[in-house]
Amino acid sequence: MMKLGLIGEVLGHSLSPDIHREILNYTGTSGTYELIEIPKDQLTSRIPELIRTMDGFNVTIPYKVDVIPFLSRIDEPAQRIGAINTVVIRDDRTAGYNTDYEGFRDTLRLFDMPVKGKKTAVMGTGGASRAVIRCLADEGASDIRVVSRHPEKAAPDYQAFLSACGASLITYDQLENEGEGALLVNATPCGMFPHTEGMPVSAETISRFTSAVDLIYNPKETRFLKTAREAGCRAASGLYMLVIQAMASEEYWLDRELPIEMAQDIVEKVEKKL
Ligand code: NAP
Repeated sequence: MMKLGLIGEVLGHSLSPDIHREILNYTGTSGTYELIEIPKDQLTSRIPELIRTMDGFNVTIPYKVDVIPFLSRIDEPAQRIGAINTVVIRDDRTAGYNTDYEGFRDTLRLFDMPVKGKKTAVMGTGGASRAVIRCLADEGASDIRVVSRHPEKAAPDYQAFLSACGASLITYDQLENEGEGALLVNATPCGMFPHTEGMPVSAETISRFTSAVDLIYNPKETRFLKTAREAGCRAASGLYMLVIQAMASEEYWLDRELPIEMAQDIVEKVEKKL
């Protein structure tokens, strides 16, 4: 029986147990997926015990970087992003992966949103945007503009990360005035439940992009995505990225491939829980 779970500081009403239950059922695997809240001052003492007793776990805010020193090996894209969200435990060896990266990449594939050689823009400079920006660079986007409310305040390590990805920082005014291209990504919390009226950018600017992805998964269709869809853009909800990153974690834990078509089925099941 697989012993799996999610560690974070505050986990609230996470959808992850429902998503992982669906995946385990689908694969006929018996297993549990537990929510494990760990206060910041207990992380160092709890991690060795989790590694001893579990088969794998997901990691969320604020531990995606803090867990790295406990692991034997970090997968290459995760090293370049500087954060992990999945730990695989086999015997005494532990490996860290960033399946947000795969969740975003395979959402682009599922929704037929090619970025190779294309102009893209990503709003938000938090942890989630790093996986998105690294993925856009690896997929060959020709131009990656990262939009911040305060580009002048970007930390040197963040600027180094952007330059390694060939990305540049711009303001929201620049996005509104000049933004256009194949893909616009919302990697800010603007528009998330319960503040669903929020939208990070104007409808006019959104309409200058071919496709839009929102990382927010609650609500499934944010105001940003509804505006994009009504303007004729292809639009993908963060619920797909959430489900696909969970499937990618399970692929590492179960050591088997899962069909991408499964994502649609699981999205339909879990969206009822929002
Ligand atoms: P975060 O660190 O809280 O915020 C990301 C960035 O958004 C901030 O660094 C900030 O950048 C900007 N921002 C913050 N509040 C804003 C506001 N009110 N208006 C406009 N911009 C604002 O969040 P995160 O952890 O990176 O996650 C971002 C979003 O992605 C969240 O909604 C999260 O739930 C979602 N997410 C989804 C998945 C998935 O699988 N679907 C995975 C991870 C995260 P500046 O200060 O530079 O403007």
